[in-house]
Parts: sequence; structure tokens; C-alpha cells
Amino acid sequence: MSLIEVNSFIGGQWISPAKTVTQIKSAITGQPIAVCGHRGLNMKAARDFAITHGGPALRDMTFHDRAFKLKDLATYLGTRKQELYALSYDTGGTLSDHKIDVDGGIGTVYVFSAKGRRELPDSQVYLDGEVEQLSRNGSFQGLHICTPLQGVAVHINAFNFPVWGMLEKLAPSLLAGVPCIIKPATATSQVAAACVRMIIDSGLFPEGAVQLISGSTGNLLDILDCQDVVSFTGSANTAVMLRSNPNILRNSVRFTAEQDSLNASILGPDAGVGTPEFDLFVKEVLGEMTAKAGQKSTAIRRIFAPDSVARDLCDALAAGLGQITVGDPRLSEVDMGALVSRAQKADVLAKSDLIASEADLICGDGPFAPLGADAELGAFMAPRLYHAQDADAAKHIHGTEAFGPVSTVLGYRDADHAAELVNRGAGSLVASVITHDSRFAANMALKSAAYHGRLYFNNRDSMGESTGHGAPLPHMVHGGPGRAGGGEELGGVRGVMHYMQRTAIQGSPEILSAVAQTWVPGAAKQTLDRHPFTLGFNALQLGDTLETDPRIVTLEDIETFAHFTGDTFYAHMDDAAARANPFFPGRVAHGYLLLSFAAGLFVQPDPGPVLANTGLNALRFQKPVSPDDSIKVQLTVRHKTRRNDDYGEVRWHVLLINQDGDQVAEYELMTMNEY
Ligand code: NAP
Repeated sequence: MSLIEVNSFIGGQWISPAKTVTQIKSAITGQPIAVCGHRGLNMKAARDFAITHGGPALRDMTFHDRAFKLKDLATYLGTRKQELYALSYDTGGTLSDHKIDVDGGIGTVYVFSAKGRRELPDSQVYLDGEVEQLSRNGSFQGLHICTPLQGVAVHINAFNFPVWGMLEKLAPSLLAGVPCIIKPATATSQVAAACVRMIIDSGLFPEGAVQLISGSTGNLLDILDCQDVVSFTGSANTAVMLRSNPNILRNSVRFTAEQDSLNASILGPDAGVGTPEFDLFVKEVLGEMTAKAGQKSTAIRRIFAPDSVARDLCDALAAGLGQITVGDPRLSEVDMGALVSRAQKADVLAKSDLIASEADLICGDGPFAPLGADAELGAFMAPRLYHAQDADAAKHIHGTEAFGPVSTVLGYRDADHAAELVNRGAGSLVASVITHDSRFAANMALKSAAYHGRLYFNNRDSMGESTGHGAPLPHMVHGGPGRAGGGEELGGVRGVMHYMQRTAIQGSPEILSAVAQTWVPGAAKQTLDRHPFTLGFNALQLGDTLETDPRIVTLEDIETFAHFTGDTFYAHMDDAAARANPFFPGRVAHGYLLLSFAAGLFVQPDPGPVLANTGLNALRFQKPVSPDDSIKVQLTVRHKTRRNDDYGEVRWHVLLINQDGDQVAEYELMTMNEY
């Protein structure tokens, strides 16, 4: 059988590896299947190509342009995922493992696309927070913007999820507008490279947006500067070595690390044998120990149960593990495939020996014959469960990551003891708590959330829809403190910001409006000679303003509104009671009456480009309106966002002003307008 060549893709060219570099062997048979590496790539040329081609082309697009490309990419990859499954078996995984990797990766790209279109503007600048008033009269103000870094994102990935691990970094980088150089782990690089080839085949992203290194990164880390980012996933040792690179330190190159983690799962004190939570706990632990043969950074390494339940839990888990069929992952009867390589298996066995020095083996170390495969040739092992009699005395168990199907049960006395033991992992990606006792859950969060990137609670109420202890979701942050690397990825738009620079902008409202591509109060407005609701989306300009005639608010209006709506709150109905309140001079108009009158003042009633009013934001009632006061409205185009081929969203700044020129209310109104 000919070997797969894991090519690099640099400067728009596919470059085949040298024949003598690393051979990748099948996790099932131990036979060579691929060759990975290169004869010496020019890393400077790769970075230059990204910076001169990919970066400018990506930055020319808006967030929405890039988000639409991501959606098309996810759809395209979805049409070719069978090819990725087929290639993935030799990494040792089963079909359900491939789905976590491939479908999970594609799903992540879809979520970033949707988040980009919903939560980022259809422009090149992201506004972080509100305008800050820095001067008395508002002629000098401040805001924060985020713009894409102008270098390259170097993605160094772990072997266990060659597709998900790549796409979960690629999607936020490309959405941010930053080109990527991907360096997959050698052991599974044939799968990652096939996926990169599909991305290039899709033709969706500009030249230089995505490049691939097969094998060593050479001197790449030595030539990065302050506009580059390294996003690393892998072991703590490699992370320490790479982040201590003198050039990375000297140039303050952003370095995000996702690394080892001694994740824990805690069975609540309420969840004794026979409760739905006990059964759920057993199911979650079995799934985490055996999915990807335990090679998940989020897998449960330490299993905590009340002292009184620990023995029963060991029995239940041992019974469940006894039902697991290990073998050739292509066979439908097989539940758990192989580790990625025999070297990985040797590493896991060495680490589990350390754990064994502090715990009793419950199951997993006997004669063992994988189904349909040769135990000597492939990297198979049975799942191993340990029970530590003394959770406090254990050291290796709280400090050793055996990156395979190995886990240890430990007993705890009470909530404080459980939290103290869990936190001995010194920083983890995720801890789960299976309990139906909300007070125990809240207590665990208070005592241990600071040690974990994610806390996952589950019980009989949520188990039907929960996503699993081990599944990082693109909406939620992934990463943890300390041992877990101190990095953070995903988390929706937060994940995009890791590839952007936040900059404080100070200046006049006019300048701020131009920089932020959003009208800022105080900047110039244009009063139109026709009603803005008669203008289509494209014809409206930022700053276009309608100022209405005033309208008097009478006591009769207030009475009518109160009885019509049922809102007879005393501040609107009882003069003496209202005066006794520190906020009101006497009876005042309802805030909602003012909003309704405002709509009546600014609306243009005929059918036209305004299709719907879709909501309002940041409503503030700033001054009471008394009977016989008058109000008028200023309506100004603040921001525009294309939504689809037919219409876009217009955000209007709305100001209600009384007869003395004082602001009485302010808010942002959203309408959908035809182009
Ligand atoms: P690893 O050996 O540390 O390798 C990680 C990556 O670093 C690979 O792409 C590797 O490439 C690369 N690398 C190694 N030396 C390098 C160097 N001198 N310069 C540039 N790149 C270098 O980790 P792994 O064995 O692939 O993955 C298993 C570990 O990853 C486990 O500890 C697991 O907990 C962790 N992990 C963490 C997460 C998370 O999200 N926190 C997710 C998955 C895995 P080569 O393969 O070519 O050496």
C-alpha cells in the first residue's frame, strides 16, 4: 500500500514531504500509513505570504462577509465528511469518535458563522462597550474598538482532535480577519491535512488565509512579532518550552495555551445508589473514560464520591467497563478503539503505574484480546479504573494526566473536602457536579469555580438535553487556569477577540463616529427634507435625523393610558403619594406612555421601506414628565447592518426632549428596512 504524503501548503503551493521524515503508523495494525515532514520550509516566506496576501484580503471584508464564508465552508465540509471518517480509523477512533471530531468541528464553524452575523457588525471595526463621556460638554469622548491583528495566527494542535481542534481555532481567527498557519500534530496530521485540502478546494477564502505545515515549525516562532498569535494545544511540557522562546517573550507575542488537565467529576451527597443522579453519573464517567479511548483533554481523570458511596460506585463502574468491547474501531460491535500509537500507550501505562502506587486497581489490567485486532501490533488497552483509599495522601493522582482510558475513584467527607480535593488538580478545563441539590451546587461553584474553566452541573431535570461533561461548546469558553494552560478559547465572540487588538479611542464625536463606523451622539447630523422612513436602507446615511413637532402630555392622556392599560401605579394617579416619593414632583406620565407618544410622533404611517420595529435597547427615563409638559423626538441613524438579500437592520438613536430642552428619555430603536 502506498503511503499517504502529508503535504505542506505554503505560499499557495502544495509541497510534498521528504521521504525520510516521520512515518505515521496505523493505531490498529502498527503498519506505516503516511509520511509527514518537510525538507526545510521557508517559514519567513510562509509568514510573509500570509501578511501580504491573506491578511489584507481578509481585512477588506466585513465581519459578516467572513461569517458568510464560514457558513459556506461548514456546508462544504459537511458534504465531504465521509472522506474524513474513512481516513480517521487508522488514528484508532470509532465512528462515534470521528463524529465528535469531524461533525463537532463543522458544527463549531456554523456557530461562529451565526455568532458573527448576529453579534458582530457588518463592518470592519468591532465596538467594545459604550461611549465614555470624558468631558463636561461632550466635545471629547472615548470608546474602545477591536481591529484584527495584522500578522498571522500560528495554530499548533494536539493529535487527539485533528479536525475539531483545527476548526475551533480556524473559525474565530478567520472571523476576526487574521490569516492562519496550521501546524497539526504529526500523529494524526494525515486527517488534518485532508481537511485543509478541502478548505483550499472550497476556494472560499483568499490566498494566504490558510497555510499548513507538515512536520516541524522550524524557526517560525523565532520570527513572530507583536501582530502574531500562537494558539497552542498540547502537553504542558511542550507549552512551557514553546512559550519560553526568547523571541516570543521579547516581542510579547500572544501565546494561548490549552494543555493538560486533571478534570474531575463529583457525585453529590444527595445522589446515592438508586437515584437518577447516580445512574447518570455512572453513564457520564463511562462515556468520558472510553470516548476517544480517553484521549480527550476534558476526560474525567478523578471521580469523587461521598465516602459512603465510593465502593458501590466502583462496583457500578467496573460492571459498566466490563461491557465495553475494545477492538478494531471499524467493527460495529466495538465501543472503544485504540490509542493513537504504541508510544502513546506506553506513556499512558507509565502514568497509570504512578497512579497505581497510590490506589487499588478495580479493573482493566488482565489478559486482554481486542476484537478483530492484534494486541501486540495495535495500540489497544482495556480501560483501567482505580480506587484511592486515602484521597488526602494521594499526590500523583492529583498531578498526573494519563492521557488514555484511566480514571480513579476518590472518596470525600463533605462539600468543603470535595472542593479542596478537586482544586488539587491545580487548574482544570472542566469539573462536573452531578447533584439534585442546588445548595450543594452553589457551594461547589463558590469554592472551586476559580480553579476551573468550566463547571458542568447535571441532574434528572437537565439530563435529557445536556451536552455531556466532556464537550466544549463553541458558545462557552474553553480553557482553564494553571495546569490547564491559563488560556481561553471559544466562548462565542470572546474567542474572536483573542485575534484582535482592543484599542481605546479618544477624540471628538465626529472623529469617533468615523473610526467606529457608528454615529456617536454629539457628531454632526443631517436633517432631511423627507421622512427617513421613506428612504431605503441603502439611501440612509449615518447621522440622518428627523426632529418632530412637540406634543403636550395632558392629565387626561395620563388618566386614559392608566385605565386603558391597567397601569394605575400611584405615581401616575395620586398627587400626594407621588410627591412623597423622592423621584417625582407630583403625578407624572408613564414612561411607556412617552414611548408610545414618541412612536406616534416619529412614525410615517404609509407602507414603505420600514418593514418592522424589532426592539429597543438601553432605554433610560431621565427626567419625569408632568401633566402639560411637552415632548418632541429626535431620531438619528446610528448604525446599519445588512441582514440578508432583501433587508437590513437600522439602529436609531432616539432622544425625547421636553419644553425646556432637557432630555427626558433616550434609547436605541431597531427597525428592519428594505434595501
Ligand atoms: P504535544 O506532544 O505537546 O504536541 C502538541 C503539538 O505541539 C503538536 O502539534 C506537536 O507537533 C507540537 N510540537 C511539539 N514540539 C514542538 C516544537 N518544538 N515546536 C513546535 N511545535 C511542537 O501534545 P499531544 O501529544 O499532541 O497532545 C496530547 C496533550 O494535549 C495532552 O496532554 C492533552 O491534555 C493535551 N490537550 C489539551 C487540550 C485542551 O484543549 N486543553 C486539547 C487536546 C489535547 P508534533 O506532533 O509534530 O510533535
